[in-house]
Amino acid sequence: MTILVVDDSSVHRTMLAAMLRGAGHQQVLLAESAEDAFRQLGMYGSGEAVSPEVDLIMMDILMSPIDGIEACGRITSSERARHIPVVMVSALDNEAKLSLAFSVGAVDYVTKPIRQFELLARVGHLLRLKRETDCRSAREHELVEKSRELNAANLALQHLSMQDGLTGVANRRRLDEYLELEWRRAIRNRSTLSVIMIDIDHFKNYNDSYGHGAGDEALSRVAASLTGSLRRAADLVVRFGGEEFAIVLPETSFEHAMVVAETVRRGVERLAIEHGQSPVSGVVTISAGVASTVPDRHSSVANLLRHADQELYESKGAGRNRVSGSQHAVSPAPEADRAS
Ligand code: GH3
Ligand code: MG
Ligand code: MG
Repeated sequence: MTILVVDDSSVHRTMLAAMLRGAGHQQVLLAESAEDAFRQLGMYGSGEAVSPEVDLIMMDILMSPIDGIEACGRITSSERARHIPVVMVSALDNEAKLSLAFSVGAVDYVTKPIRQFELLARVGHLLRLKRETDCRSAREHELVEKSRELNAANLALQHLSMQDGLTGVANRRRLDEYLELEWRRAIRNRSTLSVIMIDIDHFKNYNDSYGHGAGDEALSRVAASLTGSLRRAADLVVRFGGEEFAIVLPETSFEHAMVVAETVRRGVERLAIEHGQSPVSGVVTISAGVASTVPDRHSSVANLLRHADQELYESKGAGRNRVSGSQHAVSPAPEADRAS
């Protein structure tokens, strides 16, 4: 460990250093003034310290132009060196000054003439303390780092737990959470909340003719197409299960939700994923059901989803590859319409 001896008398400096070195403290640095000490400690400007990390400072109390008291005060209040213990070196008759030194942060003192056993006992004790403090703050630093890493991992995990593994779009869990949030917001704002339920047409046939792997691939491409067809950040695509998807459209009127659903349907058709066994078309298609409502205390999210599902069923019955929809329980309050 490193000790910095600050004394403007070269005789005292050298003597003190010799005592410390003689007792096995090899790393002793010398400063001939308070300014020299500040410089070696890196307290000037934003630069690095000139010396290696100092673990203890032995400071003569009587120096000029900056005396030991002021120097000690500056060190203990500096960002760079405040953690380094300062021991004052003083003549016996300077006890008033010593009390001042303690008030500005000195941790101990030795009196002149210096008795070697006293010096070494005090220095030894302070260096042990410093080593322990350093170890503890390194451990604390490590803990803070670890907990930061853990938080980041938790966040990533939370994100993953809301995602569908195959398609990367949101999963049912995220849908429940999101619908709950948007439902409450729509009640507050008296705005329309729309939902589109989507089901791939004759997808069992698709798997049967092209294999499950190709089926998975088609599912992913359909999911990406749905996401790509949406314009607003608040619109959410969800894999509802199997080959079914849902889209949540906050603050979106029924008319506009129908337009979005038709855009989405066409987008999937345009992927032109070959489906030779589909009675509907030569390519993979979807059917969609749209439901919209201005939520209030008498309606429920489950009902909105049920209505969208009924509309999807209508589309299936009417021949598939189409969109049908209905509007439910719309209160007479004025609503914010979709602006696009
Ligand atoms: P419909 O037009 O009436 O919806 O007919 P369909 O064949 O799509 O409906 P059905 O419910 O009979 O079959 C759905 C099929 O979707 C069954 C299953 O093979 C397929 N499927 C569901 N989930 C997955 C999946 O994760 N991967 C693959 N490859 N296929 C899936
Ligand atoms: Mg289905
Ligand atoms: Mg289907």
